[in-house]
Amino acid sequence: MAQVAIRNVSKSYGAVPVLHDVSVDIADGRFVVLVGPSGCGKSTLLRMVAGLESVTSGAIEIADTVVNHLPPAKRDIAMVFQSYALYPHKTVRDNMAFALKLRGTDKKLVEERVRKAAEILDLVPYLDRYPRQLSGGQRQRVAMGRAIVRNPQVFLFDEPLSNLDAKLRVQMRTEIKELHQRLKTTTIYVTHDQVEAMTMADKIVVMQAGRIEQIGAPLELFDKPANLFVAGFIGSPAMNMLKGRVRLGEKRGVEVGGVLLPFSGDPQVNDGQEVIYGIRPEHIALSPDGFPARVSVVEPTGSETMVFLRFGESEMVALFRERHSFRPGDTLTLMPRTELAHVFDAGTGKRL
Ligand code: ADP
Ligand code: MG
Repeated sequence: MAQVAIRNVSKSYGAVPVLHDVSVDIADGRFVVLVGPSGCGKSTLLRMVAGLESVTSGAIEIADTVVNHLPPAKRDIAMVFQSYALYPHKTVRDNMAFALKLRGTDKKLVEERVRKAAEILDLVPYLDRYPRQLSGGQRQRVAMGRAIVRNPQVFLFDEPLSNLDAKLRVQMRTEIKELHQRLKTTTIYVTHDQVEAMTMADKIVVMQAGRIEQIGAPLELFDKPANLFVAGFIGSPAMNMLKGRVRLGEKRGVEVGGVLLPFSGDPQVNDGQEVIYGIRPEHIALSPDGFPARVSVVEPTGSETMVFLRFGESEMVALFRERHSFRPGDTLTLMPRTELAHVFDAGTGKRL
């Protein structure tokens, strides 16, 4: 078993705190993604799990053992970085074999492990090449191969796809996911890309400014964001957020610029309370009973139509799955899908 537990971990560089009381449980065999904007502390946290940074307070456990004071080599982890960090003067084979040779692993076993990793990663034809003779995607695979051959208890990935072009990134995303389904090694994966997080993770940890904003399964975060930060961070295009006041009369809703936007469920709100009404672009429908909004920009992508709109003082984006020939200046009548609307406290940003 190799579950990882991060317990009340804080980190300061000198007097500067960068992580505040962070706790995450990662069950054996799971794929957990740490996601958040640049500088929020993702790499620092991952490097603490790896043993590359000291822990200021709290504990890190791997397989039920506190590892705070164990050096990286004793933690049975393997890390893959954004920069690949391959040895330029070693072949693919030797890059993959190096860590095992250092450990004094039996030569036959090294060969076998390298061969097997190369097969899994489609690298067999490239074993005698040097890194400079490989494409970016192949280099990334060698970096993963180097991690695989060590057969570690935990894989740590720090933005491994950031140096690849968009198409390759999508392809490698699937490859890493397949690899995980095959090997089932406990994995902690860091990215700033919410799409990567959503598509790869069993569980996502959303971070901001050294704190955890929310932990949950991808669709949990999408459907029930705990606060405005998560609501705005997860999902693309981003959720519309409209400032308004709760009305609890005959018709319940949030009044925004003279329009009553409906919500359902049972949020804890008072009449007149200032809130933020959240509705995702794809959860807005054309409806004859809707409110009028003026088209400002139309962006057709072929498979969908994105429309930027203005109503009253507010701006919003609607995303339609169909094609439409709207023009700037047109007036549409729109209705949010009531059951998919979100209400947040305007002061604290918390979901109500
Ligand atoms: P992320 O990976 O989410 O982009 P990092 O973990 O790299 O963020 O950094 C978190 C914060 O810690 C940043 O404000 C960064 O400037 C700071 N930081 C990172 N490493 C060091 C260091 N060695 N010394 C001082 N500050 C650091
Ligand atoms: Mg980083």
